Amino acid sequence: MPTFVYMTRCDGCGHCVDICPSDIMHIDTTYRRAYNIEPNMCWECYSCVKACPQNAIDVRGYADFAPLGHSVRAVRDEEKGVIAWRIKFRNGKKDLSLLAPITTKPWGKYIPQLRDVPAPTQEQRDSQYLYNEPKYIRMDDGGIHTLETNGLKIVEGVQY
Ligand code: SF4
Ligand code: SF4
Repeated sequence: MPTFVYMTRCDGCGHCVDICPSDIMHIDTTYRRAYNIEPNMCWECYSCVKACPQNAIDVRGYADFAPLGHSVRAVRDEEKGVIAWRIKFRNGKKDLSLLAPITTKPWGKYIPQLRDVPAPTQEQRDSQYLYNEPKYIRMDDGGIHTLETNGLKIVEGVQY
């Protein structure tokens, strides 16, 4: 299950929108609440779930820690430095809480300096580790696509 937002909890702060690597969390302009605009593209990475200060987002639990999982919600306690995983099971009977230390860095502290990172060499691009990449970076439709050729630029480590 991709992310699901409880409208009564969401206050439209937009943290989930900022952090989603798939750019699929959006704010409904009428109701000022967040929702997942493309559930099929959700990685279930939990980034938005952990970032949400209102604990408004549910997502499916992975089978390795939530077999028969129905939904998982994460509650961050910054003061105690822990994150609590609240798991509900599909059989409706089990309801489990797990505690783990918060390991993420403060918001905005570590921004990758992508413009300082050298571009991969042709040899690296051709290696078996990137065997699937040419298709996705569209090398086969006319050379290597770069940010510049796509009309993009890097500002402060963020792609625009
Ligand atoms: S779980 Fe990850 S990919 Fe899915 S909506 Fe949240 S941040 Fe985006
Ligand atoms: S982070 Fe939570 S409260 Fe903020 S917009 Fe997203 S779902 Fe709503």
